[in-house]
Amino acid sequence: MIPFDSFAMLDWSSGNDTGPRPRRDAIWLGCVRGGVEEAPRYLRNRVEAEAALVDLIEAERAAGRRLLIGCDFPFGFPAGFALRLTGRDDPLAVWDWLEARIEDGPRANKRFDVAGGINALFPGIGPFWFNGLKREIAGLPRRDTRTGHGMADRRRADRDAPGSFSAWQMGGAGAVGGQVLIGLPVLNRLRRRFAGAVAVWPFEALEAPVALVEAWPGLINRAVRRAEAAGGIRDAHQVRLMARGMARLPAARLAAMLSVEAAEAPEEGWIFGLGHEEELMRACDDPLAPPPLRDDCFALPAGVEWTPVDEALALLRDRLRAVVGKEVLPLGQAGGRVLAADVTARRANPPEANTAVDGYGFAHQSLGEGDQVLPLVEGCAAAGGPYPGAVPEGYAVRVLTGAALPEGVDTVILQEDVTLGQGRIAFRGGLRRGANTRRAGEDVAAGAVVLGAGRVLTPADLALCAAVGLADLPVYERLRVAVISTGDELVEPGEEAAPGQIFDANRPMLLSLIAQMGHEAVDLGRVADDRAALRAALDRGAGEADAILTSGGASAGDEDHVSALLNAAGAMAEWRVALKPGRPLALGMWGGAPVFGLPGNPVAALVCALIFARPALRLLSGAGWAAPQGFDVPAAIAKTKKPGRREFLRARLREGRAEVFHSEGSGRISGLSWAEGLVELPDHGLEIQPGDAVRYIPFTSFLGG
Ligand code: AMP
Ligand code: MG
Repeated sequence: MIPFDSFAMLDWSSGNDTGPRPRRDAIWLGCVRGGVEEAPRYLRNRVEAEAALVDLIEAERAAGRRLLIGCDFPFGFPAGFALRLTGRDDPLAVWDWLEARIEDGPRANKRFDVAGGINALFPGIGPFWFNGLKREIAGLPRRDTRTGHGMADRRRADRDAPGSFSAWQMGGAGAVGGQVLIGLPVLNRLRRRFAGAVAVWPFEALEAPVALVEAWPGLINRAVRRAEAAGGIRDAHQVRLMARGMARLPAARLAAMLSVEAAEAPEEGWIFGLGHEEELMRACDDPLAPPPLRDDCFALPAGVEWTPVDEALALLRDRLRAVVGKEVLPLGQAGGRVLAADVTARRANPPEANTAVDGYGFAHQSLGEGDQVLPLVEGCAAAGGPYPGAVPEGYAVRVLTGAALPEGVDTVILQEDVTLGQGRIAFRGGLRRGANTRRAGEDVAAGAVVLGAGRVLTPADLALCAAVGLADLPVYERLRVAVISTGDELVEPGEEAAPGQIFDANRPMLLSLIAQMGHEAVDLGRVADDRAALRAALDRGAGEADAILTSGGASAGDEDHVSALLNAAGAMAEWRVALKPGRPLALGMWGGAPVFGLPGNPVAALVCALIFARPALRLLSGAGWAAPQGFDVPAAIAKTKKPGRREFLRARLREGRAEVFHSEGSGRISGLSWAEGLVELPDHGLEIQPGDAVRYIPFTSFLGG
């Protein structure tokens, strides 16, 4: 077989248009072209997806590269179907048949009607079932009531693939039937459009420049789940890893996997990689050390100019992941660190049943009706001082809070509720079995996961870990974040300031912010608006830190050297985020380190750092994505907000209402210091009256990672 040069994996969906924002259960395309892995692409509907496939095929052909495209739905049906449907034993005749009958559009399609129509060609009921529509469809049962149609329920390959679905099932979680009916016509159009250049595996010999191959990400589920644990959208991981796996397999192994002889039922097709799951996973798995971030990880999709805040956040969330190494620390040093793996209880909490109060313990079955008198045994059970023997039935023993329940004791009475005298206790009846005791493991069972990877360890977490016997914790190394201020006008506070010069206010602010977020701040000082000096500072940052925050010089002007340099490095997206304050936000990669080019204006710099850099740094640090917690409170102000941009106002809470700083001027640092949080106003226009609910986010909810 002639080797392939490029690989794509398509995650198909039969649903309707899924909107502009990348989300799961939509169409996704992962590509490795000519050895270069691309960020997975989100395709909101099938029209876009088909266009993307056409573009991909054209581009790869123009580049003279052989292309293999994996698709996640069956290419054939159980044996005998093609003959019954088309009168020919040819699976591709089914493709033609479906293409001629499926009408499709971004918002609706006729797949259920076509399935009902096919059922009418068979005796009995079925084989297709499940109607996802409100209206009844002749011939298509809503539930699996099929009988007598004479078709097998699954193909040979489906029977061998754990967790796969039957192509007859048209809907319900995990079903693929709808995708087949809608997907095959799209692939068939590609076959006709690029006639002779597209071969369908395993029905045709793979000699054409493009191969369509049925592939199923379920086969590499473990690898996908591992990747997913670090965040991101499942479908994106599926297509990325599958394309990567196909690309990384040695050519001879790939050829061997493609030479499957589905001889038993050739018209049914086959699932690529079936029986070779482990090998496929080894090929696609993320290596244990975090791989470098991709240079184009901040690139915006073509044609995007104004990026809404939520989309910018979704892009960051999708493209960044932990870049730090791991270490093991004693409990006492792990506070504020990010847990690098799930940890499980070595011991239950409480380890043994014990008493929750100071009092007297006995067996509940010692009690009779009404008021009680029980003789006391000698001795006492205390925390750390267990009672040595067993307490006989009909006797009570003195117990102190935290003491393990002695043998023979299952119930405790509070000392305030008894009268003590002559070596006996008297108390009222009506105590339930187990009163005032704690069961062994009632808080945490031994072996239970107590904290998950990505957790930023709180003081309480350390108590929990200690209680269940953990002395050391696996944590991520601290993320190092470098801070650089840029601008000819800047001087250090305390220095002599000539006319026109200002003190560098951003650097102390950002350094302190990073430390409060739990990262290690690396101060790289100020640089003038000079490209060579800035280049040297960025080089240093990439060498000494995992990420870099700059302020100033982020727009597109002559003196905006941050964006110019990142641009020249070819790894830059000058995001015009629809955000006030702080539109120009330069994001790029420098020497493998993500650079957040914040605006120079201190108000905008802080808002952009809180809204964008904070969650991104969290991801890089291993802590996973987290949105700041805001809540709705009545506004103390009136304001008219124009549509188009999200706005953040400097605010604070007084008497349960959100006050807003009297000036929105973005140079007013005093307002930043006055504020205790931000009021977040939505992207759309708004008329706010005093007392209307507005969203308030306290600054504290941005800190601690
Ligand atoms: P720039 O984004 O470089 O055009 O800067 C925008 C505004 O922020 C200008 O008025 C700068 O003087 C000011 N600025 C930039 N960096 C700082 C800084 N580190 N401290 C205080 N103000 C700054
Ligand atoms: Mg400047």
